[in-house]
Amino acid sequence: MRIIDSHIHCGVQNVHQPFADIRPLLARAGIDSACLFAPVEDIYHRYSSSFDDNRRWRRCRERAHDYLLDLATGQAGIYPYYFVWNDFMLEDLQKPFAGIKWHHHAGEPAYRYEDSRCAQMIETICSEKMPVVLEETFERTLWFIEQVCGRTPVIIPHLGMLNGGFARLLRSGVWEDESVYADTALAGSEEIRTFLDRYGSRRLLFGSDYPFGMPEPQLQQLKTIGIANSDLERICGENIRRLLRTTSPLR
Ligand SMILES: [Zn+2]
Repeated sequence: MRIIDSHIHCGVQNVHQPFADIRPLLARAGIDSACLFAPVEDIYHRYSSSFDDNRRWRRCRERAHDYLLDLATGQAGIYPYYFVWNDFMLEDLQKPFAGIKWHHHAGEPAYRYEDSRCAQMIETICSEKMPVVLEETFERTLWFIEQVCGRTPVIIPHLGMLNGGFARLLRSGVWEDESVYADTALAGSEEIRTFLDRYGSRRLLFGSDYPFGMPEPQLQQLKTIGIANSDLERICGENIRRLLRTTSPLR
């Protein structure tokens, strides 16, 4: 079984999460590949709701993305994601990113959804069929899924823990959508089992959320809650492999 950790934060500027620290953790857990996101701290000032962009932050984002792209150039099994912010740099999607990270919690700087470039960004992501790891408020999660409308995969991390909660998303019907996926990072065994019972294993992805979760124990949790081997193979690698943009961007 080739295992991909689909949820890892990796960066070396405002936080210290270098891939050199992550590689041995993956090796110890028997994980072959990793989807890497820049840390939020390298994308915008998350603790200031009045944050406005400036040149220093633009440079910081650029370096954060270049770090991941460079890692992917040097070795197989590294999937860099592009972290969208309010500059909505459409041209950045021409770089060989495998997926998209979209992140906002209540109290943090918000996305400018009213900006026409935001709509263009979503359209381009859809046309490139790039999977979007979406961590947003409950209302925005529903809104985003409606905009995407099945045109590209939307991955809700933590089985929805930070998108309004698993149960609320369940009641709203979000998990019924065939283009909506969930990752298992820091999720409870009960929620993982409920998801599998209702929807099967084709839309669940293993992720650790390093450094908030550790790859080995997060993987161990999955392996010990009685999931059939064929389902584990899907959850731990097959599903995410199907979603990643691994061919070069077309434009
Ligand atoms: Zn995370």
